[in-house]
Amino acid sequence: MKPAPRGPAPEDAEARRAVPPVICYPVAGLPLPDLAALDEARADWEMTAALLVPPREARTFDVPAGHFFRIGCPEGAQVGDLNLWNAADLAERFYSGKTRALHGTHLGRGDRMWSGFPYLRPMATITADTLDWYGFDAYGCSVHDVIGTRCDPYTHCLLSGGGQYHHCCHSNLTRALAEARGLTPREAEAAVHDVLNVFMCTGFDRATGQYVMKASPVRAGDYLEFFAEIDLLGALSACPGGDCSAEHSSDTAACHPLSVEVFCPRVAPPGWVAPKVSGYDRSHGW
Ligand SMILES: [Zn+2]
Repeated sequence: MKPAPRGPAPEDAEARRAVPPVICYPVAGLPLPDLAALDEARADWEMTAALLVPPREARTFDVPAGHFFRIGCPEGAQVGDLNLWNAADLAERFYSGKTRALHGTHLGRGDRMWSGFPYLRPMATITADTLDWYGFDAYGCSVHDVIGTRCDPYTHCLLSGGGQYHHCCHSNLTRALAEARGLTPREAEAAVHDVLNVFMCTGFDRATGQYVMKASPVRAGDYLEFFAEIDLLGALSACPGGDCSAEHSSDTAACHPLSVEVFCPRVAPPGWVAPKVSGYDRSHGW
């Protein structure tokens, strides 16, 4: 947040402000997904798993490499917080910050969910999004952000003067991972990470820079769909904020379930090869 200035601006302030920005990470060299090949594969598939995530809870799911998975809104407007791990190694997990640096604040078809260091490879590729019509609205907001973190009981405790709430997405994801992998809640918590905010509609206040949210435009029948580039363990929390129009970290908002469906294509996407981990030698110049 930027406070009011405490001194006069320099004479060339406007000239300095007028310098145009450049893209931080020119992504011309980024390996692009073959969307035509992915479309070909998804044209003929069979569903191999389906589950429902209850409101204010999370559930895990497995997606083998080469399968697709779809996060759906089966009933009412609801936001989901998504974590992804390498199914064989929980140390390799989704890296929201680098994904944001590469693809921007909000994800859409063709964008990847990247894993963190030292792996840095695409874990999943977005193949379909029924909310792609939304674009950016007059407030600069859009859906499926990688700018928020996840609602959590620590921030809630901080801001509410000691409040204890146990169904924030952070806690829901922790319980779900602990249950799926036989971990203690403390062990599982260490593997929970910043999320992709599925269906959430967010942006930044233009005057203050603060993170803002508004009622999600998602409706029953909408979905966001992914292709698993590696064997994945996913966890999805149906946020206690519901459509995140007003608040979260409470039982006040109207909440709805989310669905997860996994599909196996009859034929793999032509030419697709599972991505390798980063080729950096990790010597760090030592
Ligand atoms: Zn949440």
